[in-house]
Amino acid sequence: MHRHLSLLTPSGHLTLGNLLGALRPMAAAQCDAPGSADCFYGIADLHAMTTPHDPARLRALTRETATLLLAAGLEGATLFVQSRVPAHAQLAYLLECTASTGELSRMIQFKEKGRSSTRVSLFTYPALMAADILLYRPSQVPVGADQRQHVELTRDLAARFNSTYGPVFTIPEITVPTAGARVMRLDEPSVKMGKSAGDVPGVVRLLDPPDVVRRKVARAVTDSDTGPDAVRADPAKPGVTNLLDILTACGGSPDGVTTYGALKKAVTDAVVAELEPLQRRYADLAADPAHVTGVYDAGAARCRKVTAPVLAAAQAAMGL
Ligand code: AMP
Repeated sequence: MHRHLSLLTPSGHLTLGNLLGALRPMAAAQCDAPGSADCFYGIADLHAMTTPHDPARLRALTRETATLLLAAGLEGATLFVQSRVPAHAQLAYLLECTASTGELSRMIQFKEKGRSSTRVSLFTYPALMAADILLYRPSQVPVGADQRQHVELTRDLAARFNSTYGPVFTIPEITVPTAGARVMRLDEPSVKMGKSAGDVPGVVRLLDPPDVVRRKVARAVTDSDTGPDAVRADPAKPGVTNLLDILTACGGSPDGVTTYGALKKAVTDAVVAELEPLQRRYADLAADPAHVTGVYDAGAARCRKVTAPVLAAAQAAMGL
């Protein structure tokens, strides 16, 4: 059985974009017969510390994200919090000893955000990301365009390690993920609906109550077209196209919808119906924290077991 690995950084509250673009495909991968995968889904808390962070907020977001992954039906996967599997940080250090500063300086994220006050971890985190991947020896890594450079670096580091110290790592192939929904902000449809944006009107969070969803959708940007076919997907109408995408991704239908008011009502109803069962499961799980802790403890224990031989092989090859 092949392995499927995916990590989410607890840097904000999960959004409708995360649900449709990540959690749904992650849920499908764990029971996607006949090619079902051994899925490892992690919360990358160490990656949330590369920029100034508040410890209490990080702890709360890690807990919330952990509970949301379970509420989203990912209990068939091995769920873990990255910092509870020390091999991630341990292998990251070994990989830092194979990477050059020139290589890491070329990473787009560092080029965009790096300045003298930047945390060193923002510079070195591609090595941690390479460790996250290589420890599980996946044969394939599906990545979107924004992460491609990191996985290319992962392949380079693995190949260099293998040729310098011996064949320890499987070099993963990069695959293009099956096109998931790409949800854009309701107030700014040219920008991805991201969890780092903060509580802005254009970002629907998974735990937003129905009246908040209604208010946010009501304020969604459309356009001034009032023609009979105004409600249509069209690159020239990004706001309307985004609403239509959300509507269909949430199981609604645009049939018979001819005005923006009706479209917004249909989108609100579909999103609320999509989130309602998830929020109910979330509330049940949040009321039973021992269960959530137990699931993640068991997941981390399995990850420690799976990753131990890979870390040990890398340590031995390097002379430790
Ligand atoms: P991020 O929240 O950017 O760290 O991304 C975590 C996961 O959610 C990745 O798999 C992203 O591709 C996915 N994701 C994040 N935002 C969106 C969005 N607006 N639409 C679709 N997928 C998204």
